[in-house]
Amino acid sequence: MTTAVPIPAVSARALRKSYGAIEAVAGVDVTVQPGDVYGYLGPNGAGKTTSLRMMLGLIQPTSGQVRLFGRDPVLDPVAALEGVAGFVEDPAFYPYLSGRANLELLAALDGGGGERIDEVLDVVELRGRAGDRVRGYSHGMRQRLGLAAALLRRPRLLVLDEPTTGLDPAGIRDMRAQVRRLAAEGITVLLSSHLMGEVEALCNRVAILAAGRVRYEGGLAEVLARSNSRHRLETTDPARALELCRAADGVHDVHADGAAVVFSADRDAVAALTLWLAQAGIGIHVLAPTGGLEELFFDLTDREAT
Ligand code: ATP
Repeated sequence: MTTAVPIPAVSARALRKSYGAIEAVAGVDVTVQPGDVYGYLGPNGAGKTTSLRMMLGLIQPTSGQVRLFGRDPVLDPVAALEGVAGFVEDPAFYPYLSGRANLELLAALDGGGGERIDEVLDVVELRGRAGDRVRGYSHGMRQRLGLAAALLRRPRLLVLDEPTTGLDPAGIRDMRAQVRRLAAEGITVLLSSHLMGEVEALCNRVAILAAGRVRYEGGLAEVLARSNSRHRLETTDPARALELCRAADGVHDVHADGAAVVFSADRDAVAALTLWLAQAGIGIHVLAPTGGLEELFFDLTDREAT
């Protein structure tokens, strides 16, 4: 018996988009598997929005290809976008209509989903305000109405571009809870963000984008495991501590970072190093594991900037 390989929810290969001399997206490869909550992380201007727009068929790639569940959103948009929803950019609504009326209009345009309006309003906790005009909604309420509009389509893939931008802490918490709930129901989520905490809290896989290119793609657990051995050391004698770290067995990738020394080492090598520092009369102010997604992010994106 052969095991069926799942068709990726999103597959982008060598995706590029140029605007004149500006290369907004310079070669993106991304694979989102069904069931992933996939974090698409990058600094401002890295090309996240532009690549998501290409993935949704909203703009044409300069070159490269996209498949949504195996289908091409440029050549076959109706089939490719079936079961795909999301918001890229601020969701737009008629301000003088109520939230409910906006959803009714969208359902009518979409040819279905009207019977689900109460259900999706409940999911985003807007039912109590659904009769009010959107003009009077807060930013967070508009974001949640955007999510409700996306959910009307009963998506199997939800694409969200920085869904918590501009929300207050309670709004951020609510939006994250909703993403988690949807993921638990089996909806695949592709979520862009420049917030590492957000991606760490929600996602099982990540891509890190910098200057239009994917610099890293992999499991979040792998990122965290890979960075477990990274440490930061602050001592009473930074210069000698740096020398000792460079000379110590099992201590690698040693760099000075201001008055601190940053290095990679396993637990035994760290223990041996502390004894060696003590013998040399060097006091330790701070010795702490560092890293995680943030370390990797700055490592990849700073290197690009220099
Ligand atoms: P942010 O986090 O700030 O939203 P982003 O990662 O989403 O950033 P993009 O909005 O995709 O980045 O922009 C990537 C680059 O492409 C930027 O330099 C931007 O100015 C440029 N760009 C995007 N759209 C256009 C356009 N229509 N015309 C010209 N340049 C564009």
